[in-house]
Amino acid sequence: MFEIVGADGHWQGEVWNRRKNGEIYPEWLTISSVRDGNGNATHYIGTFTDISRIKESEIQLEHLAHHDPLTDLPNRLLLLSRLQHAIGRARRDGTKGAILFLDLDRFKNVNDSLGHLAGDELLQLVAQRYLARLRDTDTLCRHGGDEFTVLLENLREPEHAADVARSLIEELRAPFVLSDGHEVYIGTSIGVSVFPDDSENPVRIISNADTAMYQAKKSGRNIFQFYTAGLTEAANQRVALEASIRHGLRRNEFVLHYQPLVSMTDLRMTGVEALVRWQRPDGEIVPPMQFIPLAEETGLIVPLGEFVLQSACAQMKLWLDAGAPLGIMAVNLSAYQFRQADLRQRIQAILDETGLPPHYLELEITESVLMECSEDVERALWGLKFLGVRLAIDDFGTGYSSLAYLKRFPIDKLKIDKGFVQDIPNDPADMQIVAAVVGLSKNLNLEVVAEGIETEAQLAFLRQEGCDYGQGYLFSRPVPSVDLTALMNSDRHLCEF
Ligand code: C2E
Ligand code: MG
Ligand code: MG
Repeated sequence: MFEIVGADGHWQGEVWNRRKNGEIYPEWLTISSVRDGNGNATHYIGTFTDISRIKESEIQLEHLAHHDPLTDLPNRLLLLSRLQHAIGRARRDGTKGAILFLDLDRFKNVNDSLGHLAGDELLQLVAQRYLARLRDTDTLCRHGGDEFTVLLENLREPEHAADVARSLIEELRAPFVLSDGHEVYIGTSIGVSVFPDDSENPVRIISNADTAMYQAKKSGRNIFQFYTAGLTEAANQRVALEASIRHGLRRNEFVLHYQPLVSMTDLRMTGVEALVRWQRPDGEIVPPMQFIPLAEETGLIVPLGEFVLQSACAQMKLWLDAGAPLGIMAVNLSAYQFRQADLRQRIQAILDETGLPPHYLELEITESVLMECSEDVERALWGLKFLGVRLAIDDFGTGYSSLAYLKRFPIDKLKIDKGFVQDIPNDPADMQIVAAVVGLSKNLNLEVVAEGIETEAQLAFLRQEGCDYGQGYLFSRPVPSVDLTALMNSDRHLCEF
């Protein structure tokens, strides 16, 4: 400022100043210099205007331009600019987002029969209910009339937008009570467009969602519809699957199969891994990969995991009591279960109930679990270790395979992922990786198991490299407990070699 006054003789602009009471305020300041005959500045004259009022109304105008006066929600203009940013972010981060276009069903009836004031009040109440349901990061807008839009960001799966749509529909089920005492029931139809999949153009995305909303209205009210037809189908299947997992749990449709863990020195069974199966009433056996991910998302993995632990421990106790020469019952823990605060207490309770000594139980955890917030993980791992159970890292090599955690965490065993085993002896790179992991395990004093052994050649290579244990179809597929008992009783090497 003084530089300019020095050069030009005057300056004007906005400055922040402080009042005597300490309050900061904006002022418009003009400074001119007064010079003597030699051109040296002798005085400065400053005049200022308090512009806090003007500033306030600027902010108000800005707010009015971007918000709906009735509900004070962001309007279409602000939505477009937020959506534009969201699309850019999604493209950069490789994530997805969605626009939900909501239109109230039969809102016109309310307006016509109870009057516009009642209609306005209803719109405000609807906005409040929606807001209460959404996350802070979601943007709810009033699009106009009885239309609202929601901008969702950071969706892991596009189908998650369906969960939000469903809950917004649910949110309107209870009646609204207007201030004049009228009870009003209202529903909503929702169209969903996913970006950047459906389009990367904000106007297009909104109009896609609008189109989908019309489809929803046509096929009945109080439902949602994706712009991409397949997604609606997928979302509905997810809901159906979730419900049938719940039913399946109640009706004991889940069973455990057991796959032998074989010692590489004498090719005898030293333990088993419990693998869950879903036995549908029609006899179909559903593999875990088709229901575990959804069970994790919906939290159903907690009762399911509890069932798995409980049955595996009880079965192991039975086998031990019958004199079976087994040392290990391996059970898979999902990341979601691992994050349960009371996991340790739950496992302790199951061990107590079943009477299984803890050192027989081996918990298999995937690498992704260990890569999360490491201090909590470390505490949880030690907590489990203090119970006396064993800890194994499953699918080793498919995650970050950090050497730091191998040293730091109380791990007993590595399980080399079957992806590295399947191409032995044709893929030299995989063979080198397997050899290196076996060597690493030896140096770190960890036991090492190779999964997915299907051929004699794979077995020969792994034995030659000094791998401790093996597991795979070559020895046995996962089988029901009765079949495993029979396999144990036949008392033979699981593979003639
Ligand atoms: P995992 O723990 O790595 O289990 C090994 C998987 O490899 C099993 O598949 C098993 O059937 C399969 N397998 C074993 N030997 C061979 C072989 O020689 N060749 C081939 N191609 N595959 C073989 P499954 O039973 O379908 O289980 C898949 C995954 O589901 C498991 O991988 C595990 O991550 C998860 N899972 C299974 N049961 C449970 C459970 O009770 N709880 C949790 N959280 N996850 C489970
Ligand atoms: Mg496993
Ligand atoms: Mg595995």
